[in-house]
Amino acid sequence: MTSRADFHSHTNASDGRLTPTQLVDLAVRMGVTVLAVTDHDSTEGLAEAQAAAAKHPGFILVPGIELSTDIPGAEVHILGYFLAYEDAEFQRTLANLRHARRDRGRMMVEKLRGLGLEIPWERVAELAGEGAVGRPHVAQALLEKGYISSFQEAFDRYIGRNGPAYAERLKLTPVEAVEILARVGALTALAHPATLSGLDELIRDLKAAGLVGMEVYYQDYDKATRDRLAKIAERYGLLKLGGSDYHGLGGSRERMLGDVPFPDQEIDAFLERARQATPLRGS
Ligand code: AMP
Ligand code: ZN
Ligand code: FE
Ligand code: FE
Repeated sequence: MTSRADFHSHTNASDGRLTPTQLVDLAVRMGVTVLAVTDHDSTEGLAEAQAAAAKHPGFILVPGIELSTDIPGAEVHILGYFLAYEDAEFQRTLANLRHARRDRGRMMVEKLRGLGLEIPWERVAELAGEGAVGRPHVAQALLEKGYISSFQEAFDRYIGRNGPAYAERLKLTPVEAVEILARVGALTALAHPATLSGLDELIRDLKAAGLVGMEVYYQDYDKATRDRLAKIAERYGLLKLGGSDYHGLGGSRERMLGDVPFPDQEIDAFLERARQATPLRGS
């Protein structure tokens, strides 16, 4: 069953395959009428997505972003919605993060070279184009060269967080990310939290910084996982959000836009909250 909303998706402004226009058109074809575009460390796809959405009466495009942050031993992703993304200082922060992503991409290419896997940095940069460089671009370059036989293998053998060719990014803390987003009026949410340990403590800290939601209806989370996360969300008074995290790259865990069991009442609760919080932007 397709859900009418999907609050987590990527375009070629980061590591998704589709242009913002293609992504919006795909959402329309899949019966999704409320779509958040949440590229990594970039809002460069949002204006085009909003223009594409305006061609479809009734379609709601939620401007969003996903910021990558770290805690010791794990990665934490923070989503921001309905943000005033044109803010100049905010854009400078994002430009710094993307610059750091390029340096870090080069470092992973070097580490791979040390392991005997030669991929040209130029090819990784070409795959990323104008967008934020991410590990999926490195994976794609490895695949093209025949060093691996599937996209997933790149993460399992080389560039997963504990892999031999993984390199760290410029590190924001999760609290910093929530604060940066709150400053531009974003409603913030904790992304794909199922595998995080110490979740209660993290959520307490983030809630104090202004967190309003967390993903519960995410990608391939099964019922037991969704139920467990829903209880945590309720305990902390957080909105229960989610989405497919569609990238269009065809990885083994990829879900189509809207292919998440997202209850209508939770979708409406979020949109209502957005209307109250940002009356001009959330209409
Ligand atoms: P980056 O932002 O460069 O660290 O890359 C993060 C992106 O890589 C995520 O959004 C996923 O698309 C992909 N990714 C990260 N870990 C994995 C994994 N274990 N398997 C497949 N894809 C992954
Ligand atoms: Zn990604
Ligand atoms: Fe993520
Ligand atoms: Fe994502």
